[in-house]
Amino acid sequence: MQPKATISGWKDKVLFTPGPLTTSRTVKQAMLRDLGSRDFEFIGLVKEIRDELVKLGQAGLDEYTTVLMQGSGTFGLEAVISSTVPPDGKLLVIVNGAYGKRLVKMASVLKIETVTLEYPENTTPIPEQVEAALNGDPGITNVAVVHCETTTGIINPIAAIGEIVSKTKATYFVDAMSSYGAVPVNLPECGIDYLVSSANKCIEGVPGFSFVLARIDALEKTAGYSRTLSLDLLEQYRGLEKNGQFRFTPPTHTLIAFRQALAELEAEGGVAGRGDRYRHNYETLMEGMQRLGFKEYLAREDQGYIITSFLYPEDANFQFEAFYEHLNEKDYVIYPGKVSDADCFRIGNIGRISESDVRALLAAIQETLIEMGVKLR
Ligand SMILES: *Cc1c(COP(=O)(O)O)cnc(C)c1O
Repeated sequence: MQPKATISGWKDKVLFTPGPLTTSRTVKQAMLRDLGSRDFEFIGLVKEIRDELVKLGQAGLDEYTTVLMQGSGTFGLEAVISSTVPPDGKLLVIVNGAYGKRLVKMASVLKIETVTLEYPENTTPIPEQVEAALNGDPGITNVAVVHCETTTGIINPIAAIGEIVSKTKATYFVDAMSSYGAVPVNLPECGIDYLVSSANKCIEGVPGFSFVLARIDALEKTAGYSRTLSLDLLEQYRGLEKNGQFRFTPPTHTLIAFRQALAELEAEGGVAGRGDRYRHNYETLMEGMQRLGFKEYLAREDQGYIITSFLYPEDANFQFEAFYEHLNEKDYVIYPGKVSDADCFRIGNIGRISESDVRALLAAIQETLIEMGVKLR
């Protein structure tokens, strides 16, 4: 392997993906330390992170807590599914993409009784239908939905669904993996009992853990529910509360980097400031891609500013693998599509990227189309 060097050090490729993402140099530098897992500084840092994450959800520490969980985002999702559905409970999953489907699969592996409310990938769920499903089946104890379905980039109406779930006894779980920290969420106002995101998405840390925002009241009622040892949400919470420590080896370096990432988020103006940068990335991308002749998969009004799915051009010279390779050689990493009924690729607007990176990507795409002999119009 031949790493590329520049005057300022190693030059990394720019990641226009759904994660892991491009992170700041200072976030990466924060990791150049070794801290013991029982060190006072480390215990203080874990507490700081947990409290700050609750604040980002516009919630009070008397009502909500953060449970940090080793592993990628999926581990946090599985912790919630396996630890918060009662042994005889029934889960309703609202599905309009691959991540909703993953929640269903998780429940199936765990042998949890599950019903689904499914929508096409380019359609948002209809809250009235969620209400009808809950009214029609009083056995439903838990409801789960994805906030930004990263499959397409669609934003689901978590507040309207939360209002409906709040009228029942069911608990409400939101997979906000790709939105938390960049799309405002008010945990109490949305009636959210559990929300999951991870270190390496919009908060711009490095991979290594996920976090669960939990309503303390709901969490404390889940004793005996967990179906696994390591993903036991209540036990992990109790451990963190008792002595500030993880039950098993914590990703210390990732957590130190995450504290730095949270400080950089605050310096950028918090969730609103970060959302503004990402929205500007998105608008720059859309304007440029449209100029090149690309069409997006979703209707404008359903689209968030997190990630965008573009349809493959109809020109026979367009091959996604070659397109990807060309861009990769130019040091820009995009992402394959995940939509089941259309050929798409995805471009993320998140991570430590700004307008100039998006413009450089657009120029590289234009050059690539010429190299491939693809004509869009
Ligand atoms: C990224 C993502 C996940 C999965 O996270 P991993 O870190 O890959 O386990 C789950 N749900 C959504 C909505 C995501 O964007």
